[in-house]
Amino acid sequence: MTMAEVMECKGTRYEAVIGLEIHAQLLTDSKMFCSCSTRFGSEPNTQTCPVCIGMPGVLPVLNGRAVEFVVRTGLAMNCNISPYSRFARKNYFYPDLPKGYQISQYELPICEHGHVDIVVDGTERRIGITRIHMEEDAGKNIHQKDGSLVDLNRAGVPLMEIVSEPDIRTPREAAAFMKKLRAILRYLGVCDGNMEQGSLRCDANVSLRPEGSEGFGTKTEIKNINSFRFVEKALDYEIKRQLRVLEGGGTITQETRLWDSNAGITQSMRSKEEAHDYRYFPEPDLVPLEVSDEWVEEIRAGLVELPDEKRKRYAGEYGLPDYDAEMLAEERQVAEWFEEAVRLGGKPKAVSNWMMTELLRLLNDTGRDISETPLKPAHLVGMLRLIEDGTISGTIAKTVFEEMFRSGKEPGVIVKEKGLVQITDTSEIEKLVDEVLAANPTEVERYRNGETKLQGFFVGQVMKASRGKANPKLVNELLRKKLT
Ligand SMILES: [Zn+2]
Repeated sequence: MTMAEVMECKGTRYEAVIGLEIHAQLLTDSKMFCSCSTRFGSEPNTQTCPVCIGMPGVLPVLNGRAVEFVVRTGLAMNCNISPYSRFARKNYFYPDLPKGYQISQYELPICEHGHVDIVVDGTERRIGITRIHMEEDAGKNIHQKDGSLVDLNRAGVPLMEIVSEPDIRTPREAAAFMKKLRAILRYLGVCDGNMEQGSLRCDANVSLRPEGSEGFGTKTEIKNINSFRFVEKALDYEIKRQLRVLEGGGTITQETRLWDSNAGITQSMRSKEEAHDYRYFPEPDLVPLEVSDEWVEEIRAGLVELPDEKRKRYAGEYGLPDYDAEMLAEERQVAEWFEEAVRLGGKPKAVSNWMMTELLRLLNDTGRDISETPLKPAHLVGMLRLIEDGTISGTIAKTVFEEMFRSGKEPGVIVKEKGLVQITDTSEIEKLVDEVLAANPTEVERYRNGETKLQGFFVGQVMKASRGKANPKLVNELLRKKLT
């Protein structure tokens, strides 16, 4: 069922209005307001101190690196950076929050009014960023058979919350937006984007309204989604659920829902709190945060080239297809690998082709990261030279490529060791051609009766007979000569 069909209900066409709130853990070594480590996976409660476990009378000290990271993110997402912002207490009770409040930002966030562009099905769309603010994480409850335990290693870990405008219209756009955000954060080095470990998670708000209207329907919020696939699935489910409610003449209740990835459904968790339920008030232990223009400009000057800029440059400067440019630019390490190969003299298109097909396939098959393979850009460039000067054929190159990926050996060494040098001796190839023609008299007959597309079949047979080593150009020439 396509989205368009789903959205029709009692003669009214509905559109979805989606906004995302992304929580990203900042890649600082220490916590937001104390010097405890932020390392993941340590023994419970080994990275705590009186500040982050909320002892009375302690004073928070703001982590300057965390502020720098949020400003960097704000600039990369085209936000205004407020010269003056303030921390607030968000009050609520929960066992993993011993001090009874979270330090967050409320009225005066540090970044506002930005945007990020996404591309879905070849169409570029601009998604507004309402705000980016800083806050500290809470601890973690661990529920066991014989009781519940609290681990406070995560309490006080610096987070930023990136809130989008309700500009997103489809679950696919939501996933694309989340993907783009993750790519930018990883480029900036401010968040590792590890969704399994919870470094990046997302809450999604969704409501329906008659297509073309300006108002908003009642929204529900889906909490704690930790993968691109789930954000798409959860929203898809929730949109259909809301539509069914409206179809039955019901009304949508404003509430928080949880995505159950095993059952593939969202379930009501609680009715939605309003901001006043948290009784936000200015944090009395921290002075307002002032960020100077000079500092902002210094951070701006240090920004790296971002995936969108790279994508456009790859398409423009190198003439790569949009899809390839997008794929290569998405991950910083992949982009830098590509650029290094081009710098070493590889033709951009050839480098891109090998990366998009063989390299991505091998990375996928082995579950490895590009940085974890012994294959370096210089290997690929060296191999491309061997193809160009006729030492090896494109078919043989695949074998060489796989071997380089596995062992990190130089292409020339592999060719020599395995005896993969291309056969360019005409008489040797002619012999193979004759054998193939003699073994396939019916096909030869059909070819001579006009079925010239059988040329491909003969080429394949000769290449096979030569174990991939025959020069394909010579094979083609000789076949044509002999067949006509
Ligand atoms: Zn601490």
